[in-house]
Amino acid sequence: MSTRILGIESSCDETAAAVVADGREILSSVVASQMDIHRKYGGVVPELASREHLRQIVPVVREALAQAGLSFSDIDAIGVTQGPGLIGSLLVGMTYGNVPVNHLEGHVHAVFLEAHIERRTPALPAVCLIVSGGHTLLYYVEAKPGASSTLSPLEKNAGSTFTLNASSEARSPRIDGNQASCGFQFRRLGGTRDDAAGEAYDKVARLLALGYPGGPVIDQLATRATACGPAVSGAGSTWSPPEKDELHFGPVKIKGNSYDFSFSGIKTAVLYYLRAHPEFNAEIETRREALLQGCRKAADLLPLCSPQVLALISNFQSAVVNDLVTRTLAAASETGARTILVSGGVAANSALRETFQSRAATKGVNVFFPSRGLSTDNAAMIAAAAYSHLKAGDIASSDLNAEPNLRIA
Ligand code: ADP
Ligand code: MG
Repeated sequence: MSTRILGIESSCDETAAAVVADGREILSSVVASQMDIHRKYGGVVPELASREHLRQIVPVVREALAQAGLSFSDIDAIGVTQGPGLIGSLLVGMTYGNVPVNHLEGHVHAVFLEAHIERRTPALPAVCLIVSGGHTLLYYVEAKPGASSTLSPLEKNAGSTFTLNASSEARSPRIDGNQASCGFQFRRLGGTRDDAAGEAYDKVARLLALGYPGGPVIDQLATRATACGPAVSGAGSTWSPPEKDELHFGPVKIKGNSYDFSFSGIKTAVLYYLRAHPEFNAEIETRREALLQGCRKAADLLPLCSPQVLALISNFQSAVVNDLVTRTLAAASETGARTILVSGGVAANSALRETFQSRAATKGVNVFFPSRGLSTDNAAMIAAAAYSHLKAGDIASSDLNAEPNLRIA
């Protein structure tokens, strides 16, 4: 019989519960987002977040069990995010669980859950980029010792650990379909020195009055920059600055570890640019009013954006995406990893996905993303990670506590 784990995630602004069988079959996944509550503050307010988790946790867990057609007595273990995250939020989930999971490790399992759905197997070692509103981290990921020697019966019969396919994914030693169930070990390569990439999206969206969270709207509007060009009408602004006045971002310079990131400079450049160009104020005010009326979709905001703002958004996104992709590919090349795993809310970004796919393909590297739903915080990834801990006998002692600054490496 399968091992069924209830996962609970409450590290930040999503209250989530999910049931996953054998670390890879998602039986249910429920996410209650607090976006509507934090929106008016332009970011997550910790005190409000923990109160909302308290309100949501019981109905969300009930819903996850109901959707899986199970009751508590059918559950073998409860995996829960121990950290990193907001202490008050983490504590709400921690009251439920007996298998502590690192949230970041969960994001890596999200990639494997998705790969399993697609019947693919990411070859390890890999370089993993975790990129969200709270994190921008780069790790070298290997299977825990022992995991990679397990061949699937199919491959044992074939008498070879290598397949003949030409892609690097297939050239790598194939590991049994559930290598993630044995867990991973991590080496930290770098991380952001200031803002996380998602935070930069959210802050720039705030400066431009594009709503919260900023990522999804900027993602969609950026694609309209060249498509619309000067043809956009009714943009609340008839002013058009000369092109040389457009804000362009050079590569982010980092002293020391070249796998570190920094996004606060890009955000500040947008701030100073807007200060130097009060011509944008009118359309920003128009969009602010539209947001207050509940017009938050990219399609609602597009007619309220001048071509210059769309160009600005597109340039901002290109700068962030290029930086993330360039540093991650360099890390893969230097470590010899032929696989890149990308996870976290910003992994949902279409430009990031396209840029990774096209640039990695030229280097013979395979890139894996979770679906959009598994990219942002969810509990299926926590249940999947808990399975590997459960198998290793790594369950909670009675003094288990939330760890706001928990690391994986
Ligand atoms: P956290 O809770 O740590 O912020 P999540 O994994 O829930 O992390 O991700 C939320 C973040 O992801 C937000 O900063 C949001 O703006 C960003 N995000 C979500 N979708 C996109 C997207 N399509 N493009 C860019 N950023 C995105
Ligand atoms: Mg979140």
